[in-house]
Amino acid sequence: MASPSFDDRGLIPAIAQDRLTGELRMVAWMNREALEQTLSTGRATFFSRSRRSLWQKGETSGNALAVHAVVADCDADVLLLLVDPEGPSCHTGAPSCFHRRLVGGEVVDEPSTAGPFLLELEATIAARRSSTAERSYTRSLLDGGAARIGAKLREEAEELARALESESDDRVAAEAADLVFHVLVGLAQRGVGWRAVLGVLAGRHGTSGHAEKAGRTRSG
Ligand SMILES: [Zn+2]
Repeated sequence: MASPSFDDRGLIPAIAQDRLTGELRMVAWMNREALEQTLSTGRATFFSRSRRSLWQKGETSGNALAVHAVVADCDADVLLLLVDPEGPSCHTGAPSCFHRRLVGGEVVDEPSTAGPFLLELEATIAARRSSTAERSYTRSLLDGGAARIGAKLREEAEELARALESESDDRVAAEAADLVFHVLVGLAQRGVGWRAVLGVLAGRHGTSGHAEKAGRTRSG
């Protein structure tokens, strides 16, 4: 047992990460009191170095961070908050504070692609949906609606099943990628987020195999 290591100003950096998607949301400082409040309330609370006071994330904006767990690094001098964000985490309105790109050592306002790959892919598919410019395979699937996407999903699931039975690992990976891609297109068509899917999986995690299977059968 050891305590977190606060620096000579009594502070420790705290990184907030979406517990489901892995997206890094923001970094701020905590003092001992901020950490205690975070742990007792389950809401991320930080210490403002400029105002010399505690602030609970979202207390004015409503965009709070519900803290699922707090993890320390090997030296216990950095904290990782695994969170469920309630709205965008950056004061600019962006989901994550990490949205500016470094080009040749300069920070430029060009959207970065720093997020977890699957979220980037989800965003790309969503952009195709609203794009009026180019025709793309993704766009044609979305235009075809649930029936067209459903037909592709059945086809891709069949191909993955066949690969699992008798084809190489590379083929299994390729067919699984096809299936996941079409799942994302189907979700985009319905406006259901990837995070919602992960939330269902996480909700089942820890339930017994039998209970989990029964739950799945019930929900069809
Ligand atoms: Zn920010």
